[in-house]
Amino acid sequence: MRFYNKFLDFLSMTPKEGDEQKDLAVFIRSLSIIFLFYFILTSVALFASTYYVAAIFEDLCAGFFLLSFIFTYRGKTNFAMDFFGAVIVAAPTVLTLVTGWKTNFQWCLLIEILVLYFSLEINREVKQKLLWIISADFLVLVLLSHLIPNNLELAKGWNLYFHIFSAAAYTFAFHVIAIFYSNKFNTAEENLREVNDRLRAMASTDALTSLPNRRVMNEHLTMLAYSYERTNTPFVIAIADIDFFKKINDTYGHEAGDYILKNLARIFDETMKEKGKVARWGGEEFLFVFENASGAQAKAVLEGMRNQVEKTVFHFNDDDIHVTLTAGIEDYSQITGIEITISKADKKLYQGKEQGRNQVVY
Ligand code: GH3
Ligand code: MG
Ligand code: MG
Repeated sequence: MRFYNKFLDFLSMTPKEGDEQKDLAVFIRSLSIIFLFYFILTSVALFASTYYVAAIFEDLCAGFFLLSFIFTYRGKTNFAMDFFGAVIVAAPTVLTLVTGWKTNFQWCLLIEILVLYFSLEINREVKQKLLWIISADFLVLVLLSHLIPNNLELAKGWNLYFHIFSAAAYTFAFHVIAIFYSNKFNTAEENLREVNDRLRAMASTDALTSLPNRRVMNEHLTMLAYSYERTNTPFVIAIADIDFFKKINDTYGHEAGDYILKNLARIFDETMKEKGKVARWGGEEFLFVFENASGAQAKAVLEGMRNQVEKTVFHFNDDDIHVTLTAGIEDYSQITGIEITISKADKKLYQGKEQGRNQVVY
């Protein structure tokens, strides 16, 4: 078990090029080692059956697989991939011609076809050409090995040995390829989903206050109006505007203004939890929607918020800043629709401004 873990650690070592090439390096390493063992172990059967030339050729190819294995540790991962590709095509071509179809070396070509199909490192045109060459090679091998039968007969008892190792090699190789590429595609998909989620959040959130933006609130209101039609669930819309905010900016600076907006948003958001939703409607205007509530209930909540804001001291740099807000409230009515409900709330807001600000008008 310890040896197995050490071997896995060695196999998954980061190559000299760094983490970016790691997956590919581990992939080529794994395939190289599988075919290294496959060629060495099956060469024993060929030796035992006195096919010395083919056996020595297999060991030579095993040496090449060892080289591609080593290259992945030496900062030459891409080269190792090409080198592995060349060996895994050339070796079975020669071996099939020499030992016949029944030895199963030809299936190595299919391994390279899979590797090529999935590889993003090789350019499309080159890849297509290589795929054509390998396919043609495969076809030629089928024809030649059947037109000029050259079926090697393994010595007694070596048949099972030989076929167990070739079956094992192809099975392992297919697993390695499947694991490597399914991981790669899953990771790519996950990253894409993450970026998508982030983009969606960015498109629906106000950057300064982190509140939902106007677009999201409009969608939400449409949804509420739709559910009002079906279930008669009432809702109330309110708009609040900060009093003399221009003066705050002029006196304490724009950054102080931003700081206050952020903190106000936090107060509003906290208060609206489980009551409905608040969005940044414009510069220093906020739109509140109270779900399943009456105008009187909304007024009580807004009065509480108005009171809280009035009492809050915003410390920015060395300044203690006070702000107040004015709000207008209107019950949603199906007859008037969302737009007119909002404009009615807006009118009440301006009425509040005219009446001296720092008040909630219902
Ligand atoms: P009132 O509403 O009481 O009539 O007076 P006001 O001074 O608040 O007037 P108004 O609502 O017309 O002005 C809004 C000001 O809010 C103008 C603009 O500079 C400021 N403002 C809008 N958005 C931002 C923002 O994101 N950050 C900061 N710091 N200021 C903003
Ligand atoms: Mg204002
Ligand atoms: Mg305003």
